[in-house]
Amino acid sequence: MTNVANANLFSRLFDGLDDPSRLAIETDGGKRISYGDLIARAGRIANVLVARGVKPGDRVAVQVEKSVENLTLYLATVRAGGVYLPLNTAYTLNELDYFITDAEPTVVVCDPSKAEGIAAIAAKVGAKVETLDASGKGSLSEAADKADTAFATVARGNDDLAAILYTSGTTGRSKGAMLSHDNLASNSLTLVDYWRFTKDDVLIHALPIYHTHGLFVASNVTLFARASMIFLPKLDPDRIIKLMARATVLMGVPTFYTRLLANPALNKDTTKHMRLFISGSAPLLADTHREWFARTGHAVLERYGMTETNMNTSNPYDGERVPGAVGFPLPGVSARVTDPETAEVLPRDQIGVIEVKGPNVFKGYWRMPEKTRSEFRDDGFFITGDLGKIDPKGYVHILGRGKDLVISGGFNVYPKEIESEIDAMPGVVESAVIGVPHADFGEGVTAVVVCHPGADVSEASVLKALDGRLAKFKMPKRVFIVNELPRNTMGKVQKNVLREQYKDIYAKK
Ligand code: AMP
Repeated sequence: MTNVANANLFSRLFDGLDDPSRLAIETDGGKRISYGDLIARAGRIANVLVARGVKPGDRVAVQVEKSVENLTLYLATVRAGGVYLPLNTAYTLNELDYFITDAEPTVVVCDPSKAEGIAAIAAKVGAKVETLDASGKGSLSEAADKADTAFATVARGNDDLAAILYTSGTTGRSKGAMLSHDNLASNSLTLVDYWRFTKDDVLIHALPIYHTHGLFVASNVTLFARASMIFLPKLDPDRIIKLMARATVLMGVPTFYTRLLANPALNKDTTKHMRLFISGSAPLLADTHREWFARTGHAVLERYGMTETNMNTSNPYDGERVPGAVGFPLPGVSARVTDPETAEVLPRDQIGVIEVKGPNVFKGYWRMPEKTRSEFRDDGFFITGDLGKIDPKGYVHILGRGKDLVISGGFNVYPKEIESEIDAMPGVVESAVIGVPHADFGEGVTAVVVCHPGADVSEASVLKALDGRLAKFKMPKRVFIVNELPRNTMGKVQKNVLREQYKDIYAKK
């Protein structure tokens, strides 16, 4: 990309485009959008944003259903030098009040059904409100239809902000992670290479686009590679299996893989046109990895990232994709494991907190300088808050979030270790181990277990099977059999919900 002078992500994506007629996006309804169409539409929307007062560095907050117009709005915001701020479609008006007053956007784009409620919030910060519905129609698209396609992409530096993504924030207030043009561009270009994307790839895109996974990993990687994507509004296993006949890559959260495995149509034949299955955003069970391989002959490639850092590690394309491991630090990314208390760098195989450094790592939390300072080491490493280890071969393993660590009788108990034992038992689908208040131990180790229908698994049978396999202090004091674990939209198990649900079980009566 020698002819790119501007560090704006939009310029880095498209200035070197050689064939505007190449297909970029296909909708499930059969609409085909070329790279040229996408750029022209982004020009129209960028003109509307500027007309609404968006200046370089201004935020454009967006809470709308997934559509091509929504993705184009992201590209247009970046092109206009604005800062794209996507919001989970599940957020209520009450929650939106916090995000909008915290971020002080110039424009808020929302679903028409929420326009009235949002207008009242937007008025507090002087933001203009535009609408966009699930079909990509609304006041924004009407204005864009009338606007000019020509737009001179606003010059931006590597460190200028391109997006703010609020973390899901299960404890305390959600924080806005500030991502620069180079954070996004450098990480996508690394992934294009690492995952061997080419212009012949066709990605099945069924992830939401308010999160780093669907917005940056899936969309930016596809567009940088000049590949194309099939946009589905959400996970639809029947549809995905049919599309595999002409697609090459699927990116999903672990729930995608368990739901697809539950579909009898998934087999070696239906997946034979695919070259790559990628999983991330939450741990893929080793069992799911093995089952997928047995059914399809494909080893799922698991990678690890977070909103603040884009992607950090990935299993290799050619080498062994280890079930339960998240692979090696990506080229240009350094990862280390440190002692959470002393910050000392730990040797291989020792468990501690994972820290990362590289061009992928964000610029800090929006308007939270203290919080930002406390999450970075003096030498620039970001403290991810994930517990893990690096094995002797260099693969990174994640053992859960630091805040999910259980401290029982003064001993550290890593939930993943107990979950792996329970998950390996016959009849068990998956488990979550949590710590809940206990008068004698501080926290009592507690297991919540999901079984296959009709399986003969009980509290007593789980405890019996664990006896002798785990040190006494790691043994669950109680085991609960449930139908399913609570998950958020990205497929992450919500341990905070479980801790709340079981908080009184050891209370003295
Ligand atoms: P988010 O910012 O919503 O993308 O969440 C990031 C967090 O998801 C990380 O800090 C990890 O705790 C978790 N995560 C992401 N990918 C994986 C993975 N492959 N295995 C285990 N946990 C993961």
